[in-house]
Amino acid sequence: MLDQVKILIVDDLKENHLVMESVLTDPELNIIKAMSGEEALSLCSEHEFAVIFMDVQMPNMDGFEVAEILRSIEKTKHIPIIFVTASSKEQKSIFKGYEVGAVDYLSKPIDPIVLRSKSKIFKELYLQRKIIEKQVVELEEQLNELLKVQQEKDSLESLSMEDGLAHIYNRRGLDKFINMHWHNCLRYGLPFSIMMLDIDEFKSYNDNYGHLMGDEVIKEVARAIQKSIFRPEDIVGRYGGDEFLILMPNVGTKGAEIVAKRILENVMALNIEHAFDSGRRCVTLSVGIASLTPTREMTSQALIDLADQKMYKAKRRGRNQYCI
Ligand code: GH3
Ligand code: MG
Repeated sequence: MLDQVKILIVDDLKENHLVMESVLTDPELNIIKAMSGEEALSLCSEHEFAVIFMDVQMPNMDGFEVAEILRSIEKTKHIPIIFVTASSKEQKSIFKGYEVGAVDYLSKPIDPIVLRSKSKIFKELYLQRKIIEKQVVELEEQLNELLKVQQEKDSLESLSMEDGLAHIYNRRGLDKFINMHWHNCLRYGLPFSIMMLDIDEFKSYNDNYGHLMGDEVIKEVARAIQKSIFRPEDIVGRYGGDEFLILMPNVGTKGAEIVAKRILENVMALNIEHAFDSGRRCVTLSVGIASLTPTREMTSQALIDLADQKMYKAKRRGRNQYCI
């Protein structure tokens, strides 16, 4: 069945209903009739009308009063109302009709051509509005779908940048920030420090206390390192195994040394027993620091390699210390 467009005719005289109905023969229209203002209001709460043809002169409640009530209700305030006036006296008060929201008026006796063309215009307007409303709903659905996909992507991305054990950045996360900071420091001529940290004699810890206890040590050391970093730009990540990396943009050798000392102290303060350690008998770190102002001839990997070399130097010098 055809989706009909509803039109409301409000008039207290049945003859007028019949006259208008005989003109509005378009099969796409569903003509609904009300004999009073009260009935019109109740019909408007049940149906959605493309337009209302409203008689002005009615007992109890006249057309203007009905229009005023319709305009005060959210659901009905945008329904177009065309007043149907009988006398020239009524036509003089038509400005009142516009005040209460009339969009147009027709005078009796009704000209069939005018009535037909006006109802056609409002039918088309109504159908256009329906299409737009449907498109808005579809667009909103598409937007929500896109937002959902983006959120899933974001959370996957942040998960895949995190080390599952230590809950700091993993290698992938570090790679992303190294490049970002390297290029920023290059651009603004700022120093960039990278710190490589490795747990001392960790293999023997695992061999003697077990891998699970070893995992706990990695977590605690990661927390102690994180606790020693105060600037939000500094990035702490797990480089692999028992190795950690700290990126410190806009930090030179002096600043990096202060941080290294703080980390060594905080890890010592954990006081994790390591009876199989050859010297210190507790879990400690060796730290290598490389610090420079990036140039176009260098790569960030060269800075990491330098920090790694310094870390091995700290190991050779007796561990639990930093080398810069
Ligand atoms: P060094 O002082 O020279 O660093 O000696 P080391 O024994 O720590 O030597 P190295 O750093 O090469 O050893 C790394 C050890 O870290 C080897 C492995 O048993 C342990 N390891 C690496 N990844 C994990 C991990 O995810 N969990 C645990 N429990 N141990 C790990
Ligand atoms: Mg080690």
